[in-house]
Amino acid sequence: MRNDEKPAIVVGAGPAGLCAAIELKKAGAPVVLMDENAKPGGQLFKQIHKFFGSQEHKAGIRGFDIGKELLAESLRLGIDVRLKTEVVGIELGLKVWAVEDRTKSYTLDAGKLILATGATENALSFPGWTLPGVMTAGCAQTLINVHRVLPGKRILMVGSGNVGVIVAYQLMQAGAQVAAVIEALPRLGGYGVHTAKVRRAGVPFYCSTTIIRAEGAESVERAVIASIDAKFQPIPGTEQILDVDTICLAVGLTPSIELSCLAECKQIYIPELGGNMPAHDEYMRSSNQSVYVVGDIAGVEEASTAMEEGRLAGIHAAWAMGYMDDQTMKIKTDETRGRLQALRQGIFGQKRFAAKERILAMRKDA
Ligand SMILES: Cc1cc2nc3c(=O)[nH]c(=O)nc-3n(C[C@H](O)[C@H](O)[C@H](O)COP(=O)(O)OP(=O)(O)OC[C@H]3O[C@@H](n4cnc5c(N)ncnc54)[C@H](O)[C@@H]3O)c2cc1C
Repeated sequence: MRNDEKPAIVVGAGPAGLCAAIELKKAGAPVVLMDENAKPGGQLFKQIHKFFGSQEHKAGIRGFDIGKELLAESLRLGIDVRLKTEVVGIELGLKVWAVEDRTKSYTLDAGKLILATGATENALSFPGWTLPGVMTAGCAQTLINVHRVLPGKRILMVGSGNVGVIVAYQLMQAGAQVAAVIEALPRLGGYGVHTAKVRRAGVPFYCSTTIIRAEGAESVERAVIASIDAKFQPIPGTEQILDVDTICLAVGLTPSIELSCLAECKQIYIPELGGNMPAHDEYMRSSNQSVYVVGDIAGVEEASTAMEEGRLAGIHAAWAMGYMDDQTMKIKTDETRGRLQALRQGIFGQKRFAAKERILAMRKDA
C-alpha cells in the first residue's frame, strides 16, 4: 500500500506546519519538519491575546499556550523537527535544499512537500521611513512579547486592521503610550472587540488619514499625518504633528510564496487574501500534485484557520503516501472542513470564505 518511503517534508513550523506534521506522524507517515528559527511556533509565540471561535477552535486560549500544546504534541509523537534550518531551494522531483545553522547545506528527497512558510509584512515608504524608530507592527510585537524590549514610549500605529489594533493594545500593556491609530480607508479594519479595547483606553483613531513624513535628527521624534481624499491624496491644510518616537506599520501581509514558485506551483492573485498565492484545491494541494500549501502562504487569514488547513494537508498527504485508508481520510477531512467553515463565519470570515471559494472555482476551471 505504501508507495513511497521518502518522508513528507514540511517547511515552516508555525501553526499550519506543526498541525500538518502532527497529522502525518499520527498516521504513521515519516515526516521531517524544518524551520529557520531556533524555536518552532511561527507567529504563535508573539500572540498573547485569547483566540476566538468555539472550544474546539481553542477559543479563550492564548496563542502562545496553543503553541506550547502543539510543541508538546510534536515532541510526544517524536517528529523529526529541524530548527535553524532554512529551505533555500526546491528541485522538481522533489529535492529540498536546506541550510542548517547557516553553515551546513544538504539535500533531502521528499515524498510529499508541504509549504507552510507564512507571510511577510508589507512596508510603506515615506520621507523619513529609514529613521530608527520606524518598524513593522510585527517587529514591535516580537520585541515586546518575545524579547521583552519596549521599542519606544510614544507610538503612532499606521493601519487599523487586526494586527494594528492588537499590537497597539499590547504596546500599551507593555507600558507604551499610543498617540494615535491612523487608517487610510474611510472605515476601521480590525475586529470590533480588539478595536474597542484600544478606543476605551482613550487612543484616537483617524480614518481617511495617512502618514506624510517622519522627522527627527538621529531617530524618530515626530510624525506628520494628514487627511486624504477619495483618491488617497493628502488634503492640504489638514497636517497634524504627533510627538512620537516610534512609528509602527501594520499595512497588510503578503504570502511568502518564493518556494512555491520554485516548485512551479501556479500562482493566482486574490487581493482580499494578500495578493499572489499558489492556487490550491480543497485538500490544499497546489497545481503541483506533490506540493501542498497551508496557512498564510495559501491566503492570509488567522492562526486558527492556518491550523485547520495544515491538518487538511497532513491528512491528505498521509493518505496519498499510503498511510491512511480511504474511509479514515474522508471522515477526518470532513471533520476538519466543518471546523474550517465554522471559523470562516462572521463579517471578516465570510469575505475570506468567498475568496477561498473563488480559489477552488479557479482551480476547477484550470
Ligand atoms: C505580525 C503579525 C501579527 C499577527 N497577529 C495575529 C493575531 O494577533 N491573531 C491571529 O490569529 N493571527 C495573527 N497573525 C496571523 C497569524 O499569525 C497567521 O495567520 C498564522 O501564524 C499563520 O500561520 P502559518 O503557519 O501559516 O505561518 P507562520 O506562523 O508565519 O509560520 C511560518 C514559519 O515558516 C518559517 N519559514 C518561512 N520560510 C522558511 C524557509 N524558507 N525555511 C524555513 N522556515 C521558513 C517562518 O520562519 C515561520 O516560523 C499575525 C501575523 C503577523 C505576521
